[in-house]
Amino acid sequence: MKAICWHGRQDMRVDSVDDPRIEDPRDVIIRVTSTAICGSDLHLYDFFVPFMKPGDVVGHEPMGIVEEVGSEVRRLRKGDRVVVPFTISCGECFFCRKQLFSCCDTTNPEPKRKVAEKMMGHSPAGLFGYSHLLGGFPGGQAEYLRVPHADVGCLKIESDLADEQVLFLSDIFPTGYMGAENAEIEDGDTVAVWGCGPVGQFCIQSAWMFGAGRVIAIDRVPERLAMARDKGRAETIDFSKQDVYETLQEMTEGRGPDRCIDAVGAEAHGWGAFDAVLDNIKASVNLTTDRAHALRQAIYCCRKGGTVSIPGVYVGYPDKIPMGAVMNKALTLKSGQTHVQKYHHELLKRIEAGDIDPSFVITHRLPLEQGPEAYRTFRDKKDGCIKVVLKP
Ligand code: NAD
Ligand code: ZN
Repeated sequence: MKAICWHGRQDMRVDSVDDPRIEDPRDVIIRVTSTAICGSDLHLYDFFVPFMKPGDVVGHEPMGIVEEVGSEVRRLRKGDRVVVPFTISCGECFFCRKQLFSCCDTTNPEPKRKVAEKMMGHSPAGLFGYSHLLGGFPGGQAEYLRVPHADVGCLKIESDLADEQVLFLSDIFPTGYMGAENAEIEDGDTVAVWGCGPVGQFCIQSAWMFGAGRVIAIDRVPERLAMARDKGRAETIDFSKQDVYETLQEMTEGRGPDRCIDAVGAEAHGWGAFDAVLDNIKASVNLTTDRAHALRQAIYCCRKGGTVSIPGVYVGYPDKIPMGAVMNKALTLKSGQTHVQKYHHELLKRIEAGDIDPSFVITHRLPLEQGPEAYRTFRDKKDGCIKVVLKP
């Protein structure tokens, strides 16, 4: 089959690889009908995530039709239409039973599990197409995908909603929703969202669902800021033109936003800020694993007693996180890879009810073969690119 494979920094290629096969009786194989490129894939593309091997199949936002069913799968049949969460979870361990699906204790196998434990204390769940540190599972930017623990993961779509309306239940809609839930929004709160990429857009949408009184979105890409205003009813700050801290102070009577969401993650830009310049230099010589300017700024701007929610992905050991501010301002920090299986049923109901149509973020629809160019366009934010959907 054809699949998008990682070959090194900014080098994705469409390769011919072996078709996946059932390896465990709880697996299904799906024929992928739609699959998206995520901001998290850019951390692979830019080689911020270690333990990638040339030839690894990437992608973790797929959906499709069940083609083959393992002998112990109970909920699914050949021909079912399913959306696949990026988190691979067993549904049975201590963490899955608490609905902490991205913390599943059983799906990240040896040999790299030990490395994950060394880096993080404990190993998180395996993820599709997201390095050998997180299981080395072939990803979903491909014609076919093996889905382990299919009964726990696959979300069946039984209505005639288009792929584009449900595809983002695989990741970015639940991610924005959990980002807003983690922000502990109280009625009428002012919520500031760093990053107006696809995840930021769903944080904005979800902040309103949790009762925000005001949403302020921060980015520098004009069309992303425009989407935050037009589709997200947010006020916006362009960090390349305005001082973020001063502007937020002015907008909140000197208190700062009640809730701050970092939807930027490890590759933040700092527009000349001293800490961001240092991050760039350190990252270029491997002295830091992440560029954490947006996180620092969210902590700095947040009002006393507020919450900083961090859906943005960090990889390792970002420098100079202002823990003094976290402690002395009595902030709460919450984060995590999304527990997709906890949210996707409820969010599907919202889509079916017509409360939201997640396809509003899509700017590019392309065949799988054009994936490598699409990575570049998305990374460089060229051609108005906000979200790419690939059709195998
Ligand atoms: P994206 O790269 O399209 O968007 C990031 C946006 O942040 C860009 O628009 C960029 O201009 C903006 N930005 C950069 N520096 C900034 C700064 N200093 N202040 C404000 N904005 C800044 O990516 P995305 O798909 O929207 O994903 C965003 C983050 O969410 C990534 O880190 C991704 O890995 C992460 N993510 C996390 C999960 C999860 O499970 N927690 C799931 C999906 C994605
Ligand atoms: Zn993703």
